[in-house]
Amino acid sequence: MALIVQKYGGTSVGNPERIKNVARRVLETQQAGNQVVAVVSAMSGVTDNLIKLAKEVHPEPNEREMDVLLATGEQTTIALLAMALHGLGAQAASLTGAQAGIVTDGIHTKAKIANITPKKVHDLLDAGNIVIIAGFQGETPDGRITTLGRGGSDLSAIAIAAAVKADVCQIYTDVDGVYTADPRVVPNASKIHEISYDEMLEMAALGSKVMQARSVEFAKKFKVVFEVRSSFNNNPGTIVKEETQKMEDVVIRGVAVDKNQAKVTIAGVPDKPGIAAKVFKTIADANINIDVIVQNVSEKGLTDISFTVASNEAAKAAKVLQPVVKEVGARDVKSTEGIAKLSVVGIGMRSHPGVAAKMFETLASAGVNIDMISTSEIKISVIISLADALKAAQAIHDAFGLGKA
Ligand code: ASP
Ligand code: MG
Repeated sequence: MALIVQKYGGTSVGNPERIKNVARRVLETQQAGNQVVAVVSAMSGVTDNLIKLAKEVHPEPNEREMDVLLATGEQTTIALLAMALHGLGAQAASLTGAQAGIVTDGIHTKAKIANITPKKVHDLLDAGNIVIIAGFQGETPDGRITTLGRGGSDLSAIAIAAAVKADVCQIYTDVDGVYTADPRVVPNASKIHEISYDEMLEMAALGSKVMQARSVEFAKKFKVVFEVRSSFNNNPGTIVKEETQKMEDVVIRGVAVDKNQAKVTIAGVPDKPGIAAKVFKTIADANINIDVIVQNVSEKGLTDISFTVASNEAAKAAKVLQPVVKEVGARDVKSTEGIAKLSVVGIGMRSHPGVAAKMFETLASAGVNIDMISTSEIKISVIISLADALKAAQAIHDAFGLGKA
């Protein structure tokens, strides 16, 4: 008898029909001779609505109360799923995060899991129940309800799978798995059969919003093998696990496009020690995340520093840098919209030379100008014009042979 943890996201439980569909799938899994724990999200749209509601009552809602409110979304789903299972004649019981033994720190609305004591989960399973657990939530040691940050049900599922030592962990969502590129961007993108944690992390960070990045980090740390698959069909999904020798044979796993970028440039910066530190300390103090950074070769003791940020933070970044520009005697600071970040990801890059050359050649042949470049061990990113993003992604996807046969 295997112990299987299944996670169903918001769209998979988005209405009563879909909840009944999930109930049937969960029951079938149990009837195949397994113990089943189902971790569920709030019905799609519910969390957003709760946040909206809170803001209508108070512009800056208290975070402790925010967590009390947000946790109700998942609590609704667990009860409804249990009822749907009862309707099918199954034995099922629901647990809130706290009841399931999920203990977190006290950072409201983005708490971290400290430990899980799943005694009740095991007791209910041993008594023959399907156990349904509310994702996204936990409790502090002193009994305050907490939530784990947006998309946090993924983290709940992975952490519970680790805590109960599940044999299988399945993340059910509204897509079939992880693709070599977003099929809306690259129509012949193909489903990836197996991907390493590190590649999955890069893909998640690059905006392939299949899973919350934190949950992948957690899975890597605790070696939880999991599968991303669809709750609307029975197609096999994508297995995410530690890298194997075979995975390195593939040079590039996927191509990602991030259209949500803007560039900030400080021009005419005196080229002397301490300036970059001042600039990026200012940005960090404003709580703005930076991505790609480029500093030009200096001419006559002056240089340009450019970096990218999420588009919605560009104006703020330029604004907080105004005083710094004055202070260090730079010429000006400006932000530019209309750019995209195009990245290729693959652990095979470590053992296959020439990936960057091939990527840049492909872009050149497609007539795409490269504005900035950044690399890591398993990723190469270029900043290009937003208008070129689609054709560039397709060209690179083709060049590395990632499309469906
Ligand atoms: N309901 C939460 C959210 O919308 C958690 C989740 O769905 O994973 O962010
Ligand atoms: Mg979700």
